[in-house]
Amino acid sequence: MGETKYIFVTGGVASSLGKGIISSSIGKLLQARGYNVTIQKFDPYINIDPGTLNPYEHGECYVTVDGHEADLDLGHYERFLGIQTTKANNITTGRIYKSVIDKERRGDYLGRTIQVIPHITDEIKRNIKQLGNKYKFDFVITEIGGTVGDIESLPYLESIRQLKWELGKDALCVHLTYVPYLAAAGELKTKPTQHSVKELQSAGIQPDILVLRTEHKLNLSLRKKVALFCNVDENAVIENIDAPTIYEVPILMQEQGLDATILRKMGLPVGDTPGLGPWRSFLERRHKAESTTPIHIALVGKYDLQDAYKSIREALSQAGTYNDRKISVDFVNSEKLTDDNVEGALKGMAGVLIGPGFGERGVAGKIVAVRYARTHDIPTFGICLGMQCMAVEFARDVLGYADANSREMDEKTPHNVIDIMEEQKSITNMGGTMRLGAYECIVKKESKAYEAYGKEHIQERHRHRYEFNNHFRNEYEAAGMKCVGVNPESDLVEIIEIPTLKWFIGTQFHPEYSSTVLKPHPLFLSFVKAAIENAEGAPEAES
Ligand code: GLN
Repeated sequence: MGETKYIFVTGGVASSLGKGIISSSIGKLLQARGYNVTIQKFDPYINIDPGTLNPYEHGECYVTVDGHEADLDLGHYERFLGIQTTKANNITTGRIYKSVIDKERRGDYLGRTIQVIPHITDEIKRNIKQLGNKYKFDFVITEIGGTVGDIESLPYLESIRQLKWELGKDALCVHLTYVPYLAAAGELKTKPTQHSVKELQSAGIQPDILVLRTEHKLNLSLRKKVALFCNVDENAVIENIDAPTIYEVPILMQEQGLDATILRKMGLPVGDTPGLGPWRSFLERRHKAESTTPIHIALVGKYDLQDAYKSIREALSQAGTYNDRKISVDFVNSEKLTDDNVEGALKGMAGVLIGPGFGERGVAGKIVAVRYARTHDIPTFGICLGMQCMAVEFARDVLGYADANSREMDEKTPHNVIDIMEEQKSITNMGGTMRLGAYECIVKKESKAYEAYGKEHIQERHRHRYEFNNHFRNEYEAAGMKCVGVNPESDLVEIIEIPTLKWFIGTQFHPEYSSTVLKPHPLFLSFVKAAIENAEGAPEAES
């Protein structure tokens, strides 16, 4: 296609309007036209990455294949586009400053005074353009976190201003705002949008396209008014009405010609509108699935916040659609679980998912949940810390080691069935000491995990410090908990399962990160299938 085109997505009026979904939808629509697209997120906070952030602050920490701890919006990008992102797709202010300061210390700036403009802005621009220069994408979509008007966003806006000036038609700005409805007046109000665009203009940026988030339909006169006041073409004012699912958004954007408007403005041929066949089939199947009686899956964890387990929730819901069933993910707070109330908490659950996590808080409750699920043969899926809890519970109850634990929870236990690797013991820096990113795993043929994957060689993403302790492996195997997935290089155990139960699998890795809309993850598909069969009885075998 020639030169890479750059699309910037900014937001105004309020946060949480769904810039990530709009960026993903634009990406999806351009990809459907045959373009090679990637999406990048800039986060204006000072942390180097979200790895050390509490999930209550910023939701789940997503992990890329190359081991970068990233913002959860990258999960949307991957789920929508079916692409794999990398460290270059998520940059924070902390990383920008760190890299400028490192260069300054090395003497790269030859004694000059280092300033926000041009040094910080140049570093931002370099990080935007390197995706185009190095990886030759046709389109790089850059989402700017935060809201226009925030102090933190200013260097990013200045960089966009400069790039728009330098790149001309090859750069474009999509601004997402909110149109509130005043019930007392019975009216939709455009004033906040006008103000937000003024704010952007005062930073020297004229948005090319406005996407208006709204709870009510926008009529033509409102769109005309916004166009007139904001210097934007009428057909570049796009309605972004609340949709039943985020997966409808690309279709709604396409119906209003958002992708065609982008192409026209960037001087590219528009051609026929792509059919989005597989995406539409998914949505159709989803509509049908969503009208069924839900299957309840308990999500046992300590973070009572939707976004803290974002990818797990998405993976379960996708697996529900592909099993033609609505899934209700019922959060069960592990901090409150005890032997006395576990029966009540897990009653009626078709399956139990024991979530990942760090630190001791809520672990006792997770172990209670594992014991209940194992002894009542409820399909159970343990992810990372969840898998570690499965191993600890088994060691305590079946192997007879009442003091079995993970070294993370009890440094001194002699039965440290989950332990830290020798070489990591001296590291004190909390960032970057974990096993992060994709690692190979060989799945044993005689296992439910293999049945799900249908292949021996897999690669899955990790984010943890502690590992299954191989010293106890034979004891586990002999007592019926099998180590069915192993890393071929390090011999670390990656998947455990109890084959005599309906579905009892724990993974040291995080399969949820690689479940996408059009390629749901095999373990989630198989877990949800087992949960449905558990709730309704297995289908009769054909005679
Ligand atoms: N806290 C555990 C570890 O570090 C598990 C981490 C996780 O669940 N992601 O090994």
